[in-house]
Amino acid sequence: MKRILITGAAGFLGSHLCDRFIKEGFYVIAMDNLITGDLKNIEHLFKLENFEFYHHDVSKFVHVPGKLDYILHFASPASPIDYLKIPIQTLKVGALGTHNLLGLAKEKNARILIASTSEIYGDPLVHPQTEEYYGNVNTIGPRGVYDEAKRFQESITMAYHRFHGLDTRIVRIFNTYGPRMRLNDGRVIPAFMGQALRGEDLTVFGDGSQTRSFCYVDDEIEGIYRLLMSDYNLPVNIGNPNEITIKEFAEEIIKLTGTNQKIVYKPLPKDDPMQRQPDISKAREILGWEPEVGREEGMRKTFEFFKKLSKADLLKTEHRDFTLHNKK
Ligand code: UDP
Repeated sequence: MKRILITGAAGFLGSHLCDRFIKEGFYVIAMDNLITGDLKNIEHLFKLENFEFYHHDVSKFVHVPGKLDYILHFASPASPIDYLKIPIQTLKVGALGTHNLLGLAKEKNARILIASTSEIYGDPLVHPQTEEYYGNVNTIGPRGVYDEAKRFQESITMAYHRFHGLDTRIVRIFNTYGPRMRLNDGRVIPAFMGQALRGEDLTVFGDGSQTRSFCYVDDEIEGIYRLLMSDYNLPVNIGNPNEITIKEFAEEIIKLTGTNQKIVYKPLPKDDPMQRQPDISKAREILGWEPEVGREEGMRKTFEFFKKLSKADLLKTEHRDFTLHNKK
């Protein structure tokens, strides 16, 4: 049985990856420090014989007994609210955590896939973003702790590949959504859906002309799986190129949820990228991959998930603190 270590396993993408690799017949070793992850996302797996869980912070030395064939490094805060609240941990997990896991991969002779992000492109001056674009990142802005940790992560991964011959993969993940997103992580989809369910107005930041391109989680997981199984070592964008402005998106959510909410406008957070759309030519060519789930279907499934949350969970939500955003 192939053995795979998944870090950030109790998080949104991590937990879906656990499900996928269990389905593929792997022995899954899940790891998470539970700062932003939630055991609820993986508790259905605890009864399985081919699943185990370590409560551990990968910024500290990582030890896993026995052989390992694959490592997926998905541990990291991944929302602007989290970067503001836990900036040092965000830097540490991307930098020290990645270093520890690369060391573990070398020791175990395992293939390692690193979760990078469209954030390495910053507020992009090239549109859509190809893997060749170097990016436009503010190193000292509020998002810099995430963006720079992820840029360092790519560099150290390529260094281990080139210097130690380590078998590495790098996926650049664009905005992804679906069941198990954290309702209170402040990102636009849980924010809008939570607001619709609580009967509040939808908060659009800025004038809503900024764009994003949202990928349904099943498509994202399929792309990541194919990349891991490929022999391609350079970064690959995985995301859905279907781009929409945030204002239009808010209108879509109001229609989907059948609520009468209005849109209210709030200040645009600092360094909020104005446009984002992945160029997925590489993924198409190398992996034969492209997204299959349209926004309407994906959002419907996601809304079903949020609708099932308890009243108490719905009320636990957090709003972005704009004074924090604009602090020097
Ligand atoms: N956004 C918004 N209202 C919200 C939360 C987010 O208008 O309540 C905007 C945000 O300013 C950004 C976009 O939605 O332009 C996506 O934000 P998110 O935090 O989901 O992800 P990211 O900025 O990292 O793509």
